[in-house]
Amino acid sequence: MDYPNRFDVIVIGGGHAGTEAALAAARMGRQTLLLTHNIETLGQMSCNPAIGGIGKSHLVKEIDALGGAMGLATDMAGIQFRTLNARKGPAVRATRAQADRALYKAAIRSQLENQPNLTLFQQGAEDLIVEGDTVRGVVTQTGIRFHATTVVLATGTFLGGVIHIGLDNHAGGRAGDPPANGLAARLRELPFRVDRLKTGTPPRIDAKSVDFSMMEAQPGDTPRPVMSYMGSRELHPEQVNCYITHTNERTHEIIFANLDRSPMYSGVIGGVGPRYCPSIEDKVHRFADKNSHQVFIEPEGLNTHELYPNGISTSLPFDTQLEVVRSIRGMENAHITRPGYAIEYDFFNPQDLLHSLETRFVKNLFFAGQINGTTGYEEAGAQGLLAGVNAALRATDDEAWHPLRNEAYTGVMVDDLITLGTREPYRMFTSRAEYRLLLREDNADLRLTEKGRELGLIDDARWAAFEAKRDAISRETTRLESTWLTPSSPELAPLADKLSSPLKREASLMELLKRPELEYPDVASLKGQGVEDWRIAEQVQITAKYAGYIQRQQEEIDRLRRHENTALPEGIDYDTVDGLSNEIKQKLNEARPVTLAHAGRISGVTPAAVSILLIHMKKRQ
Ligand code: FAD
Repeated sequence: MDYPNRFDVIVIGGGHAGTEAALAAARMGRQTLLLTHNIETLGQMSCNPAIGGIGKSHLVKEIDALGGAMGLATDMAGIQFRTLNARKGPAVRATRAQADRALYKAAIRSQLENQPNLTLFQQGAEDLIVEGDTVRGVVTQTGIRFHATTVVLATGTFLGGVIHIGLDNHAGGRAGDPPANGLAARLRELPFRVDRLKTGTPPRIDAKSVDFSMMEAQPGDTPRPVMSYMGSRELHPEQVNCYITHTNERTHEIIFANLDRSPMYSGVIGGVGPRYCPSIEDKVHRFADKNSHQVFIEPEGLNTHELYPNGISTSLPFDTQLEVVRSIRGMENAHITRPGYAIEYDFFNPQDLLHSLETRFVKNLFFAGQINGTTGYEEAGAQGLLAGVNAALRATDDEAWHPLRNEAYTGVMVDDLITLGTREPYRMFTSRAEYRLLLREDNADLRLTEKGRELGLIDDARWAAFEAKRDAISRETTRLESTWLTPSSPELAPLADKLSSPLKREASLMELLKRPELEYPDVASLKGQGVEDWRIAEQVQITAKYAGYIQRQQEEIDRLRRHENTALPEGIDYDTVDGLSNEIKQKLNEARPVTLAHAGRISGVTPAAVSILLIHMKKRQ
């Protein structure tokens, strides 16, 4: 049958990409349908119950700054929060939260169910309705035809999914879920370039069978970090500890002795796995000189005894998994509740997409998430939001939007994928961004919320909170810049021990704050009253301390912008350009950029390399 209502946007898949896509399109006022296999698994975390981490929390905060669901859901579900790289500079600082799997799903589902303009429907999509070169809708497994102007495909690891445990394998989208084989076959008929990737997950353990006294407890941080700009510590549920233990020589012996029963090492799995999230058999094989690897024992939730042993993802046979687990300190009597497994699935070469995530071959069809070759909830969520925005814009014939590399990690990721493609599951790192100091996790709202408001993603409450924050930062900055102390001011007395050198002339509070030995609380209330809200204090402090670096990065961006149309000749041999590293030469020779701006957008091609190219071009003239 033809479903009687017509939609502006249909999103297929209720994972991390699909839910953000559907919410974004609906927030922008488009009639949106979210079609998914199972409403009970909306927002399901297929693997570890944790959100954020280095590079990844930047994406979560960008999703949040654009009104998305992931940040707030994390605040409502997080049971242990930490700031990673706390002692390093703000560019690489990151927030990580262990999440209660059930609370996280409930938070996402509640946002979906309460979102105006959004309709949910439970059923597998079996086919796309394509007329000429344009998608027109979706056909479900029971033959219901849904019609829409645009379609977002966010089907994760489900297309042609095959699950491996040892040398046994069976079709599946993830443990307990069916694969999407009909749709996979249909997509293979279209001109997209398809390949296979794989990922894996560890066995889950019953906490009742674990001796935590043999492990190191890892509590969350105090003060406790918050993920969303609209979140607060009051939203967090009860907090619990994670634990740390280690593999040992015995563990590694067991793995080595059974490698021939691993689907990866016996050649049964052809797909490439995530380099930075390897299985334990991969780690033991690749780093044969190491006799121990860390294992983080993470609770799956407040109301379950299941544990997630982070660091021993595996597709070895079950009997070996049990031996491996029981060889680890504290888990000598452990009971496995669910075996670990690897999954192989279809992904599409993201070079066949535009920056809006619309496919080049089928108009009005957008791809988001793991099907574009990425791994991770955060990577999926950010792409989902972008695809949802662009599907919504296209539905009303509005111009597409995507953030640039100097505006957002989301921009870096999409540009990396579209420019370079990927041969292994792509995950975000801070090192992928050239302008790290501008793209901090703490300023994602200042970078993106205004654009989000313009797009229709930001509701009045979030906008009011954002404007209040922005005004407060500006007021406090002005106050610090215009409040002066002389070397003899009595207000300086409390700082006598802290100052590395005494003041020689009159200085503003802002100048004092720029001194490395002083922090905001030291100077804020020397004269007048500082702000209490730590988020405002943090912005004022970071901007003060890193002003020089931030300005330099901004100048680089401006310079590149002035020269972005400078053409790079087709036949240029980058091996002959002095000063470029071999890696950059190889990337340029491969990607053959057309302009200087294009060269600068290639992942790994640094602003310094672009300057060298600019000088090279000037010499040739
Ligand atoms: P998914 O979260 O997979 O969601 C896809 C959704 O689409 C599901 O709701 C599914 O039911 C639905 N769907 C699929 N086909 C259809 C259809 N035809 N019709 C209707 N609905 C459909 N990431 C990490 O960062 N680290 C890890 O260690 C890690 N390990 C993983 C291990 C395993 C075994 C798996 C499966 C994934 C792992 N991931 C890991 C990846 C992470 O789970 C994904 O990157 C993330 O969930 C991708 O989000 P997504 O929205 O693209 O897809």
